[in-house]
Amino acid sequence: MTPHSKTNPERLPMTADKKAFLLSIGTADAEPGLIPTTRKSTAGPSAGSGGSVFISSGGHRVRLSLDPDSPIKVRKTNTDSETVIVTYLDEPIVTGKIESVPAHCPEQAYINLSEKCIYNCKYCTVPLLQGHTKSKDETLQIIREAFDKGNGSVSAISITSGVEESPEGELNRVLELMPELVKFGVPIGISIYVTQDGAQKLKDAGVSEVKFNVEAASAEIFENVCPGLSYDDVFDELKNSVAIFGKGNVYSNLIVGLGETDDDVAETLEKLAKIGVIACLRPVFENKLRKGDCFMERPSKDRLMKLYDLQKRICEKYDLHPEKSKTMCSKCGGCDLVPFADD
Ligand code: SF4
Repeated sequence: MTPHSKTNPERLPMTADKKAFLLSIGTADAEPGLIPTTRKSTAGPSAGSGGSVFISSGGHRVRLSLDPDSPIKVRKTNTDSETVIVTYLDEPIVTGKIESVPAHCPEQAYINLSEKCIYNCKYCTVPLLQGHTKSKDETLQIIREAFDKGNGSVSAISITSGVEESPEGELNRVLELMPELVKFGVPIGISIYVTQDGAQKLKDAGVSEVKFNVEAASAEIFENVCPGLSYDDVFDELKNSVAIFGKGNVYSNLIVGLGETDDDVAETLEKLAKIGVIACLRPVFENKLRKGDCFMERPSKDRLMKLYDLQKRICEKYDLHPEKSKTMCSKCGGCDLVPFADD
């Protein structure tokens, strides 16, 4: 993640602790006109929510889903037009800047190819929304526009996808794009479902980093929330991918708030780190469309900080460096605390 504002100190800089607090709420109400027009999120659990705001401050970045009922408010300050103040129940917490978003997140062209899914992970709204699948031309057009809009700031292409027909179909969709994507000359990160020999094919096509998501911190929770998918297949593919991409170039989202214990999280983090995989500890997003479909409880600030400290110790033990990530979520850092980048 780029250190955003260290040369231009804010009155109330964000800290890891403040970021954890903002993440524990996860939403914000922003003053009209403050948010640059962006496409709505079409990927993962927060798909279909009403847009988001990225705030950078004190070298940290946070992404909050827009919600007019949120207790977090983002308002202009009187001092200058660029600075915003973030309050919780009228109490000022952070001052910072709103970041522009070339495509999905700052500094990347991050594209979701298939906004639909044949699976039905119970915390995710993509299967309910059954949206659009982007064509190759459409995807390339969005990426070109992101580079134009980014004015030199876009330093990675990241691709994710639901599953329109089959995981192999999504792999092929990515492989067809790759000859065009490599021409942009930036690192490329891919996060799709596990397929036979998929990691090797992605590597051969010029991909720099991959992500396969374990999602849950125990096999039991995974079986309950991701019916039809295999926890073991994900771990096998992660291990295989490290052999292909190298330690520290393979990632996995681990959702916190699905009913797991901290010991479950510690055990899974250690299991991932041991095979050279960097985890993104993602607070569960309780999308209204998924209310009651499975246990979801947004983790508290204290829990997020405890798990952040734990993850840093595990990264140190296995010499993993999420702060050096070149693509996807560990580079962005909007939704998670990223070890060492958020110190
Ligand atoms: S952390 Fe990942 S999911 Fe969140 S905004 Fe950044 S790229 Fe998107």
